[in-house]
Amino acid sequence: MTYYDLHTHTRASDGMNRPAENVKLAKEKGLTGLAITDHDTVAGIREAQLAGNELGVEVVPGVEISTRVGDKDIHVLGYFLNIDDKKLLARLVSLRRTRELRNERIIENLNQLGIAITLEDVKYGLGRELRPDESLGRPHIADTLVRMGAAADFRDAFDRYLAEGRPGYASLPRISPEEAILWIREAGGAPVLAHPGLYGDDDLVISIVEKGKPAGIEVYHSDHGPEDEQRYLQIAQQYDLIPTAGSDYHGVRGGVVFHGDLGTRSVSSDTVEKLRQAAGTGRVI
Ligand code: AMP
Ligand code: ZN
Ligand code: FE
Ligand code: FE
Repeated sequence: MTYYDLHTHTRASDGMNRPAENVKLAKEKGLTGLAITDHDTVAGIREAQLAGNELGVEVVPGVEISTRVGDKDIHVLGYFLNIDDKKLLARLVSLRRTRELRNERIIENLNQLGIAITLEDVKYGLGRELRPDESLGRPHIADTLVRMGAAADFRDAFDRYLAEGRPGYASLPRISPEEAILWIREAGGAPVLAHPGLYGDDDLVISIVEKGKPAGIEVYHSDHGPEDEQRYLQIAQQYDLIPTAGSDYHGVRGGVVFHGDLGTRSVSSDTVEKLRQAAGTGRVI
């Protein structure tokens, strides 16, 4: 049997581990391979690939792009894209710029609530320099709120301040899922709609599938229940989409693994080959 976890984060975005550590963990857990899918960046891929070559673990280059429809954040995964593609890299820079402005808004909101937090506090919490090609997100802000004593723990920081609809939350206009799908195809990759069960709106999921025509849909995800899996597997069959799986591993925060542990959701090499094919033959309309 072959096992690939197709959704993992590293410290290039809001994961806790170095890319090489995810690869080492994959090896320890007996996986054949894993994808590195950081938010709006491919900065972790190279290190992971080097570690993968050394340890004999296949590293699938990936990304998770933040998009928006109405008042919902929608994530689009991309696999086997060319991570040196100039246009892709410039596009990711623009997404990270939007992210920075969004983070500033969140900080302003928190300040209005009487919490004396700054972006410098958040960056200080990393314990190292943030590289310009890495991305900062709400989990880093949550960690800082916990450190400051403004929240009891990571979950409390989201529940009280940072989750959608909470008083610290802010959002800015972002690209649409259809645009992200096109960007991934133009970079030679296979686009996959991430964790459809998290949006609470299957009509929206179907409209994204019909309009954007991704290559796949993430049927198996740590935050999906068995009913979600059944529903999305049916949608995958109906629309001829590749069903994918990923843990959305972010590492350990305060002793807790959020989403899922690395390797707890996986696909076999058949699925990986289908994605590779879809990436190679991706039509750009
Ligand atoms: P961002 O892209 O900066 O908006 O942050 C999104 C990330 O925050 C996701 O990948 C999740 O890991 C995390 N996240 C979002 N909502 C929650 C929540 N309600 N509780 C815990 N973590 C969350
Ligand atoms: Zn994340
Ligand atoms: Fe996501
Ligand atoms: Fe993710």
